[in-house]
Amino acid sequence: MSVVKTGLRHYLHIVVVIVGAGPVGLLLANLLGLRGIRTTVLERSVSIPPGSRAIGVMPPSLEILNEAGLVAPFLTAGRTVRRAVVHGTGGAPLGTLQFARVHPDFPYVLAIPQVATLEILEANLTKYPCVTVQRGSDVVGVESDRSGPVQVTIAGGGTVTGNFCVVAAGVRSGAVAGVEIPRRGGNYNRHFLMADFEDESGLGDDAHLWFTRSGAVESFPLPGGRRRWIVQLDSGTPNGQSTPALTRLVHQRSGYDLTGAAPLWESSFSPSWSLADRFHRDGQIFLAGDAAHTMSPIGGQGMNTGFADARHLAAVLEGSHGNSGAAADREAVARYQRFRQRAATIATGRAAAGMAVGTLTGPVASALRSGVIAAALNSPLRGSLARHFAMITIPRFAS
Ligand SMILES: Cc1cc2nc3c(=O)[nH]c(=O)nc-3n(C[C@H](O)[C@H](O)[C@H](O)COP(=O)(O)OP(=O)(O)OC[C@H]3O[C@@H](n4cnc5c(N)ncnc54)[C@H](O)[C@@H]3O)c2cc1C
Repeated sequence: MSVVKTGLRHYLHIVVVIVGAGPVGLLLANLLGLRGIRTTVLERSVSIPPGSRAIGVMPPSLEILNEAGLVAPFLTAGRTVRRAVVHGTGGAPLGTLQFARVHPDFPYVLAIPQVATLEILEANLTKYPCVTVQRGSDVVGVESDRSGPVQVTIAGGGTVTGNFCVVAAGVRSGAVAGVEIPRRGGNYNRHFLMADFEDESGLGDDAHLWFTRSGAVESFPLPGGRRRWIVQLDSGTPNGQSTPALTRLVHQRSGYDLTGAAPLWESSFSPSWSLADRFHRDGQIFLAGDAAHTMSPIGGQGMNTGFADARHLAAVLEGSHGNSGAAADREAVARYQRFRQRAATIATGRAAAGMAVGTLTGPVASALRSGVIAAALNSPLRGSLARHFAMITIPRFAS
């Protein structure tokens, strides 16, 4: 076994292969690079996809980015959101969630499009000579026989070998041979449209949520003077519906008129959830991020939960002995499984509950919801609610 000396610390010679250069795979590569661990990231796409998707980076994730020396570029590229104003039917404000006291260093949620997150994470890897990103590598199989190294096979030929493999290839990771870990899951039968526009709303740096009798609208400030609008569809699936439907529903429910504004990016989603039965195979092949769990994007927790997986896994791999083919420390692996599955289960449950309450329609349910929200946001409970939405209360690994 050879020993690698990096900076002030000595590291055992561990080789990690990460499948997927999404936000979770790239953050993990940064955390391993920081620890001097040799890492190869295999990514099927030849370039970073332009889509916006995840925008909310929560304070616990900012702590992890800070540890990786990445918080400054994130703050430069993002926009801090310190308040979320909640409205009922007719637009009347019911109360405000204030993030000012949720965290001593990061008293906000950072809004940053996923493409910028990916660009920052990948660009930072050039600092670490021990990390390589191999784009255009479509992984088709991951194999290990418990006694030797993990063999990762790329479509068209080619194999990469490591002591450990982390599969962070998103929700369809099970399509990779050798990673067919059973998952539970389901759909919520709710459908949403979303689009990013130049912001002419005058809503400034605040997030705004409208929970109305005909459906929900969410609106978040983005960097670069932009704003994201998300609407719950009142009927049918998003198929064939796009910005005109979004514009009509935003106007009807919030009073904001987006007519004439061209979307800079638009998309639709029908949330579902899934949870892998196990987050590792034999302590050598690990799942992280959407490969292990997916949840409704309403609540903005999916990527953040994956970031916490990456942080925990970096410590597990650092603490492993790196003997060729040896599994990581059994107790550390068991803790990863227990801890991260519990955190993902809690986050998934909260995302589902938040979406169920927020999307209730009809006059009675809507009036009841408005009463409860107004009471909660104007009571001492509001501090706990802000911590809850900022994911401070999800169990976290402490090294
Ligand atoms: C509309 C929407 C809004 C969202 N908003 C938020 C939010 O505000 N906050 C939040 O926390 N989360 C949010 N999410 C969830 C978030 O986008 C995901 O949780 C996050 O992208 C998961 O990251 P990941 O790295 O695990 O997987 P992915 O982002 O899916 O990345 C997986 C990567 O693996 C690659 N890959 C796949 N298969 C292979 C293969 N066989 N070989 C090689 N490479 C492969 C893919 O090309 C991809 O680059 C949102 C999701 C949606 C859909």
